[in-house]
Amino acid sequence: MKKEFFFKLLDAYQRYHHSAITTKRIKYEQIISVINNITNNQRFCVEKVGYSFEEREIFLIQWGQGDVRILLWSQMHGDESTATRAMLDVWNFLISDDDFNEIRNDLFKKVTLIFIPVLNPDGANLFQRRTVQGIDINRDAIKLQTPEARILKKVIDRFHPDFGFNMHDQSLYYSAGDSPFPASISFLAPAYNYAKEINTQRENAMAIISYMNNLLQKIIPGHVGRYDDTFNPRAFGDNIQKWGTSTILIESGGYPGDGEKEYLRKLNFALLLASFDAIAHDAYRISTNHPYDSIPYNIKDRFFDLLIRNAVIEIAGKEFKVDIGINREEENYNDSNDFYFRSFIEDMGDMALYYGYEELDVNGMKVKAGKSYPYRFETQEELERADFDIILKNGYTSVVVDDAILTRPFCDYPVNLVHRRKVKSADFKIIPEGPADFIVMDELVVKHIIVNGFVVNSSTAGFGVKNGLTYRY
Ligand SMILES: [Zn+2]
Repeated sequence: MKKEFFFKLLDAYQRYHHSAITTKRIKYEQIISVINNITNNQRFCVEKVGYSFEEREIFLIQWGQGDVRILLWSQMHGDESTATRAMLDVWNFLISDDDFNEIRNDLFKKVTLIFIPVLNPDGANLFQRRTVQGIDINRDAIKLQTPEARILKKVIDRFHPDFGFNMHDQSLYYSAGDSPFPASISFLAPAYNYAKEINTQRENAMAIISYMNNLLQKIIPGHVGRYDDTFNPRAFGDNIQKWGTSTILIESGGYPGDGEKEYLRKLNFALLLASFDAIAHDAYRISTNHPYDSIPYNIKDRFFDLLIRNAVIEIAGKEFKVDIGINREEENYNDSNDFYFRSFIEDMGDMALYYGYEELDVNGMKVKAGKSYPYRFETQEELERADFDIILKNGYTSVVVDDAILTRPFCDYPVNLVHRRKVKSADFKIIPEGPADFIVMDELVVKHIIVNGFVVNSSTAGFGVKNGLTYRY
């Protein structure tokens, strides 16, 4: 049997991967320089379609001469860049000259692709969801109080697209239904009224989602989720569906080991191109074992970054058993694309129905709060000479240092740095929202050490956790 286009795209992906941009945090200027490069290509038509609140130019990019108009917009939420990066790869595919030429030329004749990459460039540069006005563009479809929402509305009114791809990222912590799999890709064919009726446009959106789900189930079975279709009268997706465009929401969630979402970006790339091809040939209404209605709903907050199971902890001399769910929150650092982790206990108690991207079953061993090393380091040089292996093996997860050493909110050492005067007793308790710094004791031996939500085995030399360790002020 002939290999499907989708799988051929996955095989050939390295050719099209825009390898200069591989992290979630991107500066808009990096995207503009890619856009400047494609303006030289005859098949692309690039125009400035308006300005963000902070006067950044927003671009509209067209490719193709077909009657079927497909609009895609990404990053209306500034910290959701997976689809923007996939768009760069799609453009690379479209400008290439290789064994896919037949499909490429056929697409060019049959469809017109209209891209708005990064609808919220101000938010993107700050890596934040909302615009600098503090407004969520996706709740501004009616009031149009943000220039970015007005641009999207203007583009929709101008083109009356047949299909609209509304590209987002979602929480890493959702499961795909009641399952041990995170919702790595989620879909929705939004409702256009409170009765959730299904007209031709919405039916087509559902059919494309079924088409994509059928492909995904072959490579990430069980990892696809669906959003609840309660009508949201303020949201763009719902309104664009109402205005007559078959609207498809695609959300990239979490996939194990894919911190920068490069794998999900690759899936976005292949899903988009395969869908364009199916639309061009009116070939997406297939019968499949994985129709729209079979996709399980997302279940919120079923995952943790690290789940410690069967821990025994002690308060006031009384022992009891808990599971401890820990999340590693990414904090933006400075104005660069850098970040560090600040981990905390998200929940504790019976977590039997929950899952961890990483799990540690301590089998009833005692878990104690990390301690602070009783010696105060006065200088950076002194700290450099410290034997952290010994410090950790003795159950210390932080060391006390002089104020002057605390220059950043994180450090490159395998322990937390603490300024003595600021330490409160709550900093060393195992409580919800408390710090994720513990030792796991097997009788009298330190078996595992958890510093800032990362497991460090005391027998392991070297730690290799990027930005894993924070100062506590
Ligand atoms: Zn979003």
